[in-house]
Amino acid sequence: MKNKVIPYGKQSISQDDIDAVVNVLKSDWLTQGPKVPAFEHATANYCGAKFACATNSATSALHIACLALGVGEGDTVWTSPISFVASANCALYCGAKVDFVDIDLETGNMSPLALEQKLLEAEKTNSLPKVVIPVHLAGQSCDMQAIANLAKKYNFKIIEDASHAIGAKYHNKPVGCCDYSDITVFSFHPVKIITSAEGGMAVSNSEEIDNKLKRLRSHGITNNPDEMTEPSHGPWYYQQIELGFNYRMTELQAALGLSQLNQLDNFVKVRNLIAKQFDVFFTEQSMQSLLVTEECYSSYHLYILRLEFSNQALQAMMIKQLRAQGIQAHLHYIPIFLQPFYQQLGFAKSTFPNAMKYYSQAITIPLHPALTEQEISTVKSTVKSLYQQLSSSSKSTPSQ
Ligand SMILES: *Cc1c(COP(=O)(O)O)cnc(C)c1O
Repeated sequence: MKNKVIPYGKQSISQDDIDAVVNVLKSDWLTQGPKVPAFEHATANYCGAKFACATNSATSALHIACLALGVGEGDTVWTSPISFVASANCALYCGAKVDFVDIDLETGNMSPLALEQKLLEAEKTNSLPKVVIPVHLAGQSCDMQAIANLAKKYNFKIIEDASHAIGAKYHNKPVGCCDYSDITVFSFHPVKIITSAEGGMAVSNSEEIDNKLKRLRSHGITNNPDEMTEPSHGPWYYQQIELGFNYRMTELQAALGLSQLNQLDNFVKVRNLIAKQFDVFFTEQSMQSLLVTEECYSSYHLYILRLEFSNQALQAMMIKQLRAQGIQAHLHYIPIFLQPFYQQLGFAKSTFPNAMKYYSQAITIPLHPALTEQEISTVKSTVKSLYQQLSSSSKSTPSQ
């Protein structure tokens, strides 16, 4: 019998989740009913934030988060190059320019030192960013205190791309509390910590921002008389007061998300237990993984090894052979500026040496709550033996 593939990430769906979705199907509301606000309140409450706006994806949430902070033509947004393309695309949707801040090699997160240096340079050329989007890679918060201090000094706003990090903590407070940012965005794609199939959420502590997010999510339309330019024409009346989108989450998605939220702490606990096992094992093999610092409790969306290869062909070989053996290893992420679309905007590799180095080392191995003990030990032994083979083969053949 052929072994089934062990995916790098996977949703865990319970009977409660299924019942929650089926109940919505039997109800009066498939969209714009009570489940979306219930999911929003529960998420805001979980994070210790005041407001939350559910969307049909984190990509949409990032887009309207930029708009809600006033990003437009002539503005610049900075993010991490080691992220999914959506972290950068959101700025371009608004007609703004995008640039990247190099990472810290140990954590893979935006480096506050690199950020400060880039801000000093930008100040001289009058090209400071309007918004900075730190990305909590693999579920570990960035050094938000340092970034927030720079935000005060250089007067930029912060959107945390916490697509990986719902359920994580920073200085013992939930990621999403927005103590260090204007808006925090979560993703509920099935590969993330909790899922609503597709879906996202933008949390904040500002009623003004939340109103704006909710308007932009639904065509720029308001039902609030205070926001209207003239008296109501009657009970049917609404006004479109700006250009928005249809970025709404459905009731089915919200019911699933709400049910998943009840299991969040348990999911993150199990992810941490498996990650701890990996840490112990790979440390014994002198194989490095991303460092998780003391002030962080990671949600462990991903488990990323950082391995030294004498050339990048061996890294590719390792991922290829892991896949051939039924382990869906991956590489998170290709530096965004290497994408052809971004290359044509003129980014040079030499500007981001740590992102390039990271890209030559990183390998994501499977981590999700449904991994069995058997699968965990298969992952450990296969990764170990392949790495031993590939690193010794590179020693016997001198690298070109
Ligand atoms: C998944 C992801 C997104 C996009 O999330 P969607 O919900 O799929 O739109 C954005 N940023 C990061 C870092 C992600 O991992």
